[in-house]
Amino acid sequence: MRLVLLGAPGSGKGTQADFLKTNFDCVHISTGDILRENLREKSELGLRAETFMNKGELVPDAIIIDMVKARLAEDDVAKGFLMDGFPRTIPQADAFDKMLSGMGLHLDAVLLIKVDDELLVRRLTNRRTCRACGKIVSLLDVDLVTEDAKNCPACGGELYQRKDDSESVIRNRLYVYREQTEPLTAWYEGKGLLRIVEVQDHYMPEDTFKGVKAALNL
Ligand code: AMP
Repeated sequence: MRLVLLGAPGSGKGTQADFLKTNFDCVHISTGDILRENLREKSELGLRAETFMNKGELVPDAIIIDMVKARLAEDDVAKGFLMDGFPRTIPQADAFDKMLSGMGLHLDAVLLIKVDDELLVRRLTNRRTCRACGKIVSLLDVDLVTEDAKNCPACGGELYQRKDDSESVIRNRLYVYREQTEPLTAWYEGKGLLRIVEVQDHYMPEDTFKGVKAALNL
């Protein structure tokens, strides 16, 4: 399966990718995760990306396109991929098309996860990430989080709030999404690849996953 997950920040692309990965053998490629790893390692790429990321802005296309090209050259990609957080602009989508056709590959579908803006803000301000295993935890999900909400329910590692999950940065990320990324839905619709799942207020990730499977005919 070769799939692009499209959706605003906080729409649950990473969580749905985790569900899909356990059901179907393919690699999860998150450009945000790759960038954050580079930030931690203080690599040259990380240093170039940091100021954009902290402001909730997009890292320039040329940097991202080179990074994705390098990732797609790795062997594990042969079994299929879930692209999460890429492409985010029309030039990225165009470059991605060219990369894939150069490799003799095509996308099976582009899945748009649609969520209301206020729900996104609520979700993102309550989102925590585990420093040790990278698990994403919501403070809204009382069953999952330990009493003091400081430790990962999976591994006990420290939970932290991403710098770009503060409310003002989130509002900017949503603005950037509407301006630069949303036009991709029409782009992929024109190619007959777009599938949509609408997330309702009361949905748990499992409910969304049912919608994902239905949208993808899985
Ligand atoms: P994410 O974890 O996907 O929300 O990404 C976090 C941040 O990384 C974004 O707010 C951007 O600053 C940067 N980023 C991730 N993917 C891309 C991309 N495809 N194009 C530009 N910037 C990106």
